Formats: sequence, structure tokens, C-alpha cells
Amino acid sequence: MKRCGCCGAVKPLNEFHGSKNKPGGLANRCKVCQQRVRREWHAKNADKISKMAASYYQKNADKISKMAASYYQKNKKAMVVKSRMRDKRLLKRSLPSERKEVEKFYLNRPEGYHVDHDIPLVGKVNGRHVVCGLHVLANLQYLPAHENDSKGSKFNELQLT
Ligand SMILES: [Zn+2]
Repeated sequence: MKRCGCCGAVKPLNEFHGSKNKPGGLANRCKVCQQRVRREWHAKNADKISKMAASYYQKNADKISKMAASYYQKNKKAMVVKSRMRDKRLLKRSLPSERKEVEKFYLNRPEGYHVDHDIPLVGKVNGRHVVCGLHVLANLQYLPAHENDSKGSKFNELQLT
């Protein structure tokens, strides 16, 4: 048993995440507290997080689009299959701390829109199309259904040169 340094509750060791840097190899906070702190941090910093992501893409637009192009060439077939399964897999693959928010995002989807995420996610950075696969809530967007459906072919046309 171990006392949580955050809420003070005494809980079994499996209620604490592992942490290499901490004495005893366990985090100070219990899993429940860790999740809460994470969620609060995310809510507080949503702006900063999306700005960081935007500036990362700007700095690395070339690298990202090259990587995406070669990833796409190598994984074309798999990606088509993947895109069909992505709605189901999204929830499983999203961060546990974000799962509720992601679910909400799906539930709030406007009529006629798809939830878009995952590779290929085509966006514009400095007027250039880039593809990124960050699997985080900040990366989700609503797309008109027909746009999402035709994304595969659009992706082809761009060629990402
Ligand atoms: Zn706790």
C-alpha cells in the first residue's frame, strides 16, 4: 500500500503508475489524481498546446511532408483499410486521459460531417500541404462528409512534392 501525495488516500500499489525517476519506482500521485492533473493541465494549456503544434509544423514542414509522402508510398494499401476502421479504432488508440473528450467530440459531430484525424491528415502550413499523424485531441477536426470521403484521391493529386 502507498499513500497518494496528492489526495492523501492510501491505495494498493497498482493504483500508481510506474515512474523510473521516483524512489520505489512509483509515481507520487495515484492514477486517479494523475489523470485529473493531466486533464486540468490540458484544459488550461489548450491554447499553448495548439500553438506549439502549429509552430512545430511550421519549422518542420519540409521534413514532415517528406516523411508523410514516403510513409504514404510504403503504406498505401494499408492506409485505405485503416481509414475504414479508424472510427472504431480511434477510441482504443487515443490517450486514456483524452478518451472522454474524444468521445464527446464524436457525439457533438454536426450532421453530415465526419470526424477526421490520423494519417493522412492533410493541412496547410505556410500555404503548403502537409500530412501529419499526431494522434491527439488537438488534431481532430470536423470535415464535411464528402470531403473526407474524397480525401484519398485528393491526397494522390497533391503528390506532396
Ligand atoms: Zn490521489
